[in-house]
Amino acid sequence: MSEAPSSGTPYPYDAPASQALFDRAATVTPGGVNSPVRAFRAVGGTPRFMVSGTGPYLTDADGREYVDLVCSWGPMILGHSHPDVIAAVQDAVSRGTSFGTPGEGEVALAEEMVDRIEPLEQVRLVSSGTEATMSAIRLARGFTRRSKVIKFAGCYHGHVDSLLAAAGSGVATFALPDTPGVTGAQAGDTIVLPYNDLEAVQEAFHRYPGEIACVITEASPGNMGVVPPLPGFNQGLKDACRENGALYISDEVMTGFRTSRAGWYGIDGVKPDLMTFGKVMGGGFPAAAFGGRADVMAHLAPAGPVYQAGTLSGNPVATAAGLAQLRLLDEAAYDTVNAVSAQIQSLLTEALAKEGVAHRLQTASNMFSVFFTDRDVRNYEDAKRQESFRFTAFFHSMLAQGVYLPPSSFESWFVSTAHDERAVQRIADALPAAARAAAEATAA
Ligand SMILES: *Cc1c(COP(=O)(O)O)cnc(C)c1O
Repeated sequence: MSEAPSSGTPYPYDAPASQALFDRAATVTPGGVNSPVRAFRAVGGTPRFMVSGTGPYLTDADGREYVDLVCSWGPMILGHSHPDVIAAVQDAVSRGTSFGTPGEGEVALAEEMVDRIEPLEQVRLVSSGTEATMSAIRLARGFTRRSKVIKFAGCYHGHVDSLLAAAGSGVATFALPDTPGVTGAQAGDTIVLPYNDLEAVQEAFHRYPGEIACVITEASPGNMGVVPPLPGFNQGLKDACRENGALYISDEVMTGFRTSRAGWYGIDGVKPDLMTFGKVMGGGFPAAAFGGRADVMAHLAPAGPVYQAGTLSGNPVATAAGLAQLRLLDEAAYDTVNAVSAQIQSLLTEALAKEGVAHRLQTASNMFSVFFTDRDVRNYEDAKRQESFRFTAFFHSMLAQGVYLPPSSFESWFVSTAHDERAVQRIADALPAAARAAAEATAA
């Protein structure tokens, strides 16, 4: 099931219970997983099947404990099984799990979000980040009565057909689908541009006057590794949109309520027309949202003509979890997450520098990732030039020592308020050997 890592780095197959589960899973599920990155294909080896999580720790099916630096890809910003979140979920569950009617929980969650983020005048709740971006794009097209969408190579917005296109590095090339199953027609209205390149954006608007409905961008990208916007980039996008009658959509599914109390907007202050959310706002449950300008949101059914719906949207258990989590996320909580992130970042660079490993640590508030390269990474082309074989060796060394990293060098690392001294010490203890493994790794 598992592919060997390209470097041929030895990795421990000491996870017999996980391996047995993975074999069973592969019989009934393609590739044995329900989301591809979980399969460890980028790093090789057996994906760990987790059975429980407490605070900063995960425990796998073989009974091994790991310090978790994935945090469910961002949502678990208070750590696992936070007692207040669990209590809110138990309370909600005891009253029933889905009604298919409006309920107070969804109003309270929307109010909390609108209260935190000034440009967010109205929100519509959905169940995944993919749904949020898909719906935001539809709304932008319905509102502007235009078809084309600008996105950036390396930015991920969920598995929306029209957004599953990264295309080549050419300026204003029309997207070729990234995957079979997405037709040329679906991707054909998507213009893919290099990230952090405002000139390319200007050129695209110039080339397609009156045709571009919106620009969608990750508020600060974390899906090609962490590649923050250069100073002025988001503002430049906003200005280009305003000048050309297009909407600026900031995808905050990853950064929202993680990088600050008001997400990335709380950091750069650039006002989007529409925003998308997921991950942290669901408290570990499927809750997501899109929202923004009230005059744009007024075009959404049943207030307006643009259709959008969901059987489980605003689910009472998910909204209870999300609301409980957001209410615990005060300034002090962000200070804690930022501090522990900074601590791990400096331990990481220290260990790599000591072994003479060329690397770039890139950060966006408490999100960070390391690229094994000696050049700054400003876009997807740069990100692809990293020596991923070093990450493979580094990853497996950390895993063997009980630290769970994202199993790909193109992902952000995530920490939580629960990462305490003991958890950080365990990371510190594991880093020297992992840095040595990265230094000694060779390309296949
Ligand atoms: C995770 C993510 C999505 C997709 O969210 P899902 O809930 O996985 O569908 C969209 N955009 C960004 C920026 C993300 O990080």
